[in-house]
Amino acid sequence: LLRASIITIGDELLIGQVIDTNSAWMAQQLNLVGITVSRRVAVGDEWNAIWSTLDEELEKSDIILLTGGLGPTADDITKPLLCEYFGGKLVSDPKVLAHVTYLFEKVLKRPMIERNIRQADVPDVCTVLHNRNGTAPGMWFEKNNKIVASLPGVPHEMKGLMSDEVIPRLLQHFQPPVIVHRTLLTAGIGESFLAERINAFETSLPAFIKLAYLPNYGMVRLRLSASGYDKETIEKIMEEQFTLLQEQVADVLVTNKDESMDQVVARMLLDRRETLGTAESCTGGYIAQLLTSVAGSSRYYLGSIISYDNQVKKHLLDVPDSTLESEGAVSEATVIQMVKGALAALKTDYVIATSGIMGPDGGSSRKPVGTVWVAVGNQDEIITQQFHFRFDRRRNIELTATNAFNLLRK
Ligand code: ATP
Ligand code: MG
Repeated sequence: LLRASIITIGDELLIGQVIDTNSAWMAQQLNLVGITVSRRVAVGDEWNAIWSTLDEELEKSDIILLTGGLGPTADDITKPLLCEYFGGKLVSDPKVLAHVTYLFEKVLKRPMIERNIRQADVPDVCTVLHNRNGTAPGMWFEKNNKIVASLPGVPHEMKGLMSDEVIPRLLQHFQPPVIVHRTLLTAGIGESFLAERINAFETSLPAFIKLAYLPNYGMVRLRLSASGYDKETIEKIMEEQFTLLQEQVADVLVTNKDESMDQVVARMLLDRRETLGTAESCTGGYIAQLLTSVAGSSRYYLGSIISYDNQVKKHLLDVPDSTLESEGAVSEATVIQMVKGALAALKTDYVIATSGIMGPDGGSSRKPVGTVWVAVGNQDEIITQQFHFRFDRRRNIELTATNAFNLLRK
């Protein structure tokens, strides 16, 4: 059983001017990962009081977390005290100095004074914990397999450090934790729009859960990873957060399982006992290749007409000369007729048709490179969508395939 003590530092806490909310939040986060908080102590800005409290808590606990007293003012003594306690000396840390300088120049827009430069001084016996929200770095000390970590008093700075640094390091330092992952796949929304949309969700995640963005050809996979020592709690909170995340992306959600777009399409067709064919111009059989690389695809995928040249569109898919002449091969009218022609020729329930200009140059077409029309349909209904991709040939083909599957899914 891992035990932790939390020490909050500051005269303002003792006189009741500031209510200690830090230790409550930290205790919750520690409990979530299965670390038991056995004491929470508040002490004033006084050298001997802090020193002896550290002595006492190190007797009883494996982990001591401190907050407060890291600022640039004279009453903030936590840093020199910890430096002496662990027998080190203060040295300027170039990474912290760069971060403090950046904050003053770009965010606070104030000149830096000597006091601020000193904020980059850290004991040479600690690991520096990066404080993305402020100037005072956190500090991580190890002694006799016990951990002492010191964090700023300002609540949102402390929270950032707990999430970014303290919880992940604790889980790494002690016995191997239980790790749980959940992933989902979205399509049709860019990574940065997605990040914007779920920003509030992300910032309110408990400190033991991390969110990763894994973008890939027009799709973004989101992965939540949780680790801790108490499996039951972790799984329960993970389920809650994963449900919340799914609600936030419901309209762009492809799957909430660890499966690819092709597998989703395969599963859908198998469930409905329906068959699919393709009429591919600009993708040149790539969609067929993707579909047939899934084992068992013969149960729902019947074949393709690779109608790369207009002659093939005309003779095998019945796309009229008049359409090809007036609208061009890359047009809505053409892909609609390609679907109809392939439904008749292949006798499948559904057909995907593609026609586009993949680049790098535009061939004989006057439409811009990256213009792609996709149509998906059955005997009753054909839906179409136009795209303008801006990438190289390879990526444009990949994106066409992804978006075609996404249309079929709908
Ligand atoms: P900074 O580098 O920003 O000065 P610091 O580590 O020196 O941070 P303190 O000066 O001790 O932190 O506290 C800064 C502010 O954070 C306090 O004025 C108070 O409002 C808040 N604070 C400090 N400790 C706590 C706490 N335990 N609970 C809630 N708020 C706190
Ligand atoms: Mg203080």
